[in-house]
Order: sequence, then structure tokens, then C-alpha cells
Amino acid sequence: MSVKDNIEQVRKRVEKAALSANRDPNEISIVAVSKNIAPSKILEAIDAGITIVGENRVQELIKKYDIINKNISWHMIGSLQTNKVKYIIDKVDLIHSLDRISLARELNKRAGAIGRKIQTLIQVNMSRESTKSGIYEEDLISFIEELVDYPNIEVKGLMTIGPNTHDTDTVRECFSRFRCLLEDLRSRQIDHIDMQYLSMGMTNDYEIAIEEGSNMIRIGRGIFMDK
Ligand SMILES: *Cc1c(COP(=O)(O)O)cnc(C)c1O
Repeated sequence: MSVKDNIEQVRKRVEKAALSANRDPNEISIVAVSKNIAPSKILEAIDAGITIVGENRVQELIKKYDIINKNISWHMIGSLQTNKVKYIIDKVDLIHSLDRISLARELNKRAGAIGRKIQTLIQVNMSRESTKSGIYEEDLISFIEELVDYPNIEVKGLMTIGPNTHDTDTVRECFSRFRCLLEDLRSRQIDHIDMQYLSMGMTNDYEIAIEEGSNMIRIGRGIFMDK
């Protein structure tokens, strides 16, 4: 299977999952996760219609950004060290992994320095696994309230990584609660936050995520792995 075939298959499965939940497949963005993937393969994905590429390491992102040099969106999806913000602030359109105030402060400062606003999702650790980053759901409101102090940050939604299990009921329950959390924040109409994106679902669980309301899935192996 080529990258193009893989993407076609992902699109079909996205469509099926969306329709089964009475949703419009077009409202679901696919982020092609290109960590450890060579630029030539990423270009194949772009040729097949991919418009958003996600990286989880700053070093890789800036290297590939220069090589690929296409009119696409780059997303930072992995843990972001504060001292590396300056390398990507002018390159990425969305950061999925805002998880602490020190990072917000640095993003705000670096965005301000180049006269832009930076769009972010807040990463939430729904499964509370110690190996995952993200803030806990009970801390979300106070975290969002603190972000008022950082006017160059635009919160556009939430991101989570599904629980590390093959038990689909557990995965579904987690995604469902996450969606409720987003709806709750929407209904509070907090100033200057706009809960547009729910970034959840990866290769192993994106269909469940879509059925539970995801509108941004992050697919690595499902697109780039040879099958
Ligand atoms: C690697 C990664 C993905 C993609 O994972 P796959 O299982 O390869 O689809 C998605 N999100 C994050 C944060 C990742 O690090």
C-alpha cells in the first residue's frame, strides 16, 4: 500500500464513521503525523491531498519545514519545551500541546515579538496515565482563566490522547467524557476562548473518536506505514 492508498483508506473510514454518527465527514480535519517519516513520503501525502502535517519534535519540524517548503499547515502535536518555542513560533499554525502556564507565558512573549497571535489547543490528560502530559480535567477551568493574562494566545479547543488499552468501551467512554468537557466549556462562553476543535483520535482509535465527536484526528501509522 502506498501513502496515497493509505490516505484513501483513511478517508473512507472517516466518512463511514462520520455518517454512522450522522455527521458531515467534511467537518473532520486529518492531521498527517510525520514523526520519523522522510520528507519524500510527506510530499507523497501532500500530493494525495493532505494539507496539515503534525510533528512532535521541534528539531524535526524545522528541518522538514525548510525541505518541504509547501503551502500547508504545520501543527506541533508533541510536548513542547519552553526554550524551543522561539524556533517554531513563526512556522506553526496550531499547537496541540499547551499544558502549563510557563509554556503559555513563553508562547505569548514570542508571538508578541513577531506581531502575531498563536493558536493553541489545551492538552488534557483524560486517562491520567503518568506517561502522558496534559492537565487534569478538574484543573481546566482555572487554567483557562489564567490564560486571560496572555493576549497573544488564542485557545481554539482541546486535545487528548486516548487511553492505552485495546478495550474499546474504555476508549469510547474517555472520548465521550472529553467531548462533554468541550461542550461544557462552550456553554460557559468564557471571553477570548473559542472551543472550535476537539483533537482526538489516532490510528488505533480514530473511528471511535469521530463517533464521539472529534473534528481533528492525528494519523501517523495509518498514513505512513507500509502494510
Ligand atoms: C505519534 C502521535 C500521533 C499519531 O499516532 P499513530 O498511532 O501513529 O496514528 C498522534 N498524536 C500524537 C500526540 C503523537 O505523538
